[in-house]
Order: sequence, then structure tokens, then C-alpha cells
Amino acid sequence: MEVLHPKKERTFVLLKPDAIQRGLIGEIVQRIERTGLKLVALKIMLANREQAMEHYFKDDAWCEEKGMRAVNAFKAAGKTPEKEAVEYGRDIVRALADFVTSGPVVVMIWQGNEAIGVVRKLAGGTEPTTSDVGTIRGDLTIDSYRMANVDSRAVRNLIHCSDKPEEAEREIKIWFNENEQLTYRLINEEVLYDINLDGILE
Ligand code: GDP
Repeated sequence: MEVLHPKKERTFVLLKPDAIQRGLIGEIVQRIERTGLKLVALKIMLANREQAMEHYFKDDAWCEEKGMRAVNAFKAAGKTPEKEAVEYGRDIVRALADFVTSGPVVVMIWQGNEAIGVVRKLAGGTEPTTSDVGTIRGDLTIDSYRMANVDSRAVRNLIHCSDKPEEAEREIKIWFNENEQLTYRLINEEVLYDINLDGILE
């Protein structure tokens, strides 16, 4: 794979239906935009089931890991789990597809140094009630694993963001055509990336 300059790193971000319904598009975009990352694609759309399932393609290891949470919750409540952990994990994938197709989503591509890590830091941990204060999930919503699992649905945590470069490129292809991805210069980038910073003094 071609080695890209760090300032070219891209991440895929999806504002889930709860973010749109809560009126948080602007707030979330602002939090990302003010870091200095560059917005290279943005649209509001309805996701179809195929896109959602492709996006949330998860292997058995992921399903097993997530499903263990449900199994442990049953055990903690003194009940016997009704199925294997991996099956509970697969239920989460189906619930996620239901969730992201339940209403409009906003999809975006952001570019810049450590774009993936920067947006993950802003998003916060998966579970809103335990995400750090100051993060999108920690500040702006209140869902928890317990409530989501009791109601057999996906955790509503406002935002999806890629977790590694290969995933970002895979996800971008699911949601955007090439001609929707812009290449342009942002004046801000001179301050963030220019080597000599010699364009300021007159
Ligand atoms: P993320 O990268 O922080 O979004 O987390 P993951 O990739 O691990 O999970 C994808 C999405 O699945 C999360 O954002 C949640 O919406 C949902 N999810 C993850 N774990 C659980 C769980 O244990 N229970 C339920 N109900 N939903 C979950």
C-alpha cells in the first residue's frame, strides 16, 4: 500500500439516527471541525439494509466478545443464558442494522493528521453513561449497555467512526462514490502542516 503523508489520513464518520433526531448534527460537526480536520464529503441520507449489514460486518470473534456481555448479565441476574455468546453478538449486529436504517443518517469523511484517532477521542467510549466527560457520547446522551440489552436493541450512542485505516477505506466505499469525495486546500492547513510557516509575516 502507498505510504501516505500523515496529513492525508481519512476517517469515515456516521451520525446515527439518534443524533439527527436529537438535533445534534451541528454540535457534533462543530466539535470535529474545530480540531482542524478537513471535511471532504458530507451527506444526509437513508441507509438501506444491505449498506447497513455491509457496514456492520462483524466476525465471530467480535460477536463472541460483545455477546459475553449479555451472557454475563444473565448470570449476574441469576438466570441461565438462552443461547451462546456468539448468538447474542449476532443479535447486536441485526439490531445495529435496524437502528441505522430507522431514520436519516449523516455520513462524512474527515481528513487530517491522525484523523481516525482524533475522532475516536472526541467520540468517547462506546457506552454513553461511562464515556468520558467532554466527549460526544459522554456529554450528549445517556444510553447504557444494560438498558439497550434489556430492550434487545443497539446502544444509541450518536456516532460511528472508523477504528483503523483499512476499515476507514472499506467503509468509505460503502457510503460514497469517488465523485462525492472532494480534494481541496483549506487555508487552516498551512498553519497545521506547513513546514517553515513562512507565509505569515509581511
Ligand atoms: P464503537 O466503535 O465504539 O461504535 O463500538 P463497536 O464497534 O464495538 O460496536 C458497534 C456498535 O454496536 C456500538 O456503537 C453500539 O451501538 C453497539 N454495541 C456495541 N456493544 C454493544 C452491546 O454490548 N450491546 C448492545 N446492545 N449494543 C452494543
